[in-house]
Amino acid sequence: MSVTEQRLFFALWPGEVECSALAALQRTLSEQRGRPTHPLDFHITLAFLGAVTAERLVCVEQAADTVRAPGFALDIDQVGYWPHPRILWCGPRSTPAVLLQLVTDLARALEACGFMPERRAFSTHVTLVREAHYLANFALAEPIPWHAQELVLAVSRRDREPPRYQVLRRWPLG
Ligand code: ATP
Ligand code: MG
Repeated sequence: MSVTEQRLFFALWPGEVECSALAALQRTLSEQRGRPTHPLDFHITLAFLGAVTAERLVCVEQAADTVRAPGFALDIDQVGYWPHPRILWCGPRSTPAVLLQLVTDLARALEACGFMPERRAFSTHVTLVREAHYLANFALAEPIPWHAQELVLAVSRRDREPPRYQVLRRWPLG
């Protein structure tokens, strides 16, 4: 990645209330060891762009300008484990149709900037722990309500100590 490029992704970012609830959930999973996500880095990725030049960033921002979606609510009600990346995550068992539409519309808009749509199916999740030990999936007795009110463009600075992501720009939903 050259100095003029940034590693970017679109995401939903938790507000303070959601973030504290996610951090509390993460603490209950501390016996899983691994590398916990810094709470300021909690997010739900909607579209991953990778390295983007300043020139292409203009196109990306214009693409996001065209996307329209209402605000919506999510219920973070399960914890899951993906053995291959060894990721412990939480997410909603059911993803609202509005969110699926937002992801589809965003991917379509980004095609105009030369981004190929993701091959793998979208999976709504917040990564809580990396290199985590196995944990069977379980439902949360007290789901975490998440009110999505904006779409965010974030930069990933992998060379940094956590927090490693920074919000570049926000688009209000609704
Ligand atoms: P690292 O890759 O250094 O372990 P990371 O995965 O958290 O850390 P990035 O790779 O910069 O950091 O990813 C930023 C966000 O985009 C994360 O939510 C990540 O899961 C997601 N992401 C990364 N690569 C892809 C990809 N190829 N497809 C979909 N989402 C991706
Ligand atoms: Mg990665």
